[in-house]
Amino acid sequence: MRITDLILKSNKTRFSFELLPPLRGNNITHIYRITDPLMEFNPSFINVTYHQEEVVYKKRENGLLEKKTVRKRPGTVAISAAIKYKYPSVEVVPHLICGGFSKEETEYALIDFHYLGIDNILALRGDAPKNQRHFIPEKNGHAHADTLVAQITAMNQGRYLDEELQGTFHTNFCVGVAGYPEKHIESPNQAYDLRFLKEKIDAGAEFIITQMFFDNQRYFDFVSACRNEGITVPIIPGLKPLCSLREINVLPQVFNIDIPESLVREALKCKNNEEVFRLGVEWGIAQSKELMQSGVPVLHYFTVGISENIRQIVKAVF
Ligand code: FAD
Repeated sequence: MRITDLILKSNKTRFSFELLPPLRGNNITHIYRITDPLMEFNPSFINVTYHQEEVVYKKRENGLLEKKTVRKRPGTVAISAAIKYKYPSVEVVPHLICGGFSKEETEYALIDFHYLGIDNILALRGDAPKNQRHFIPEKNGHAHADTLVAQITAMNQGRYLDEELQGTFHTNFCVGVAGYPEKHIESPNQAYDLRFLKEKIDAGAEFIITQMFFDNQRYFDFVSACRNEGITVPIIPGLKPLCSLREINVLPQVFNIDIPESLVREALKCKNNEEVFRLGVEWGIAQSKELMQSGVPVLHYFTVGISENIRQIVKAVF
């Protein structure tokens, strides 16, 4: 079912979560260990992230460095299929990124998702790989998510890259995009960011999932700013509970977000990471309850390899 239909059908807040494919070499049971404890709470959908190849340098026996291209977290398509098979009542939302894909490869990926019976896609540009300063699109690939959305919309209208194809199938993907309550790191200001967010919606995106935030006011202000910009689609808040003391420095650096002073103060009082973990759960419960009261359609949690904290939050909230 399309996420927008799922939202329309339900008059209460639902929950969803995001999975990170495990590092190469791990088994699918790694994914089930994260998903299984959350299934009793009836999630509406599960997102599966996509990760671009990166260049790594390995030292050879002769001391010279060998350049290798690797995907450290492969498996988005297969994990999406495995989840559909194991939990038929839950929608799967694979992420599709611009990075590393030509438009032809994007079309092949979309055909695979269509054959798998996937109805929803989160369309993203993707970050630059760790060893690159800026995002570099693939030759004949998309530089930004707006044109990726447009390509999916074209397929929904039966227009494939080869314009001479006759009698083509119209896919029916419901496309979501990313939104940034505290602005995307590369944007000079929020107005700039919102202008391009609107372009993604005008290109055919039907819902937004936000970057994580720890202060709900940021989300409420973002929703108002979107509505003022004429963006009317559902805006699903993305939440990640704080798990360790280290994260109070790492998360702002990686995701361009603020951690509220009261949360930082409490985290600094913790004697160990178990206490920070418990604090993260308490904060997550309070954030979730307030967002729910405000009528958000879905609460979306980023698992980042663990789900015990999400389990405790959804148990308290749903
Ligand atoms: P875009 O919408 O292309 O925006 C990127 C920047 O360019 C913004 O500053 C925007 O204002 C600007 N911009 C947008 N369009 C244009 C244009 N036409 N011309 C000029 N400037 C423009 N990354 C992954 O690699 N894999 C994932 O699975 C993944 N999942 C994510 C899930 C969520 C919910 C979120 C919020 C982020 C996720 N990311 C993921 C991270 C995301 O890929 C990065 O934040 C990336 O830097 C931007 O992606 P985007 O789709 O927002 O890009």
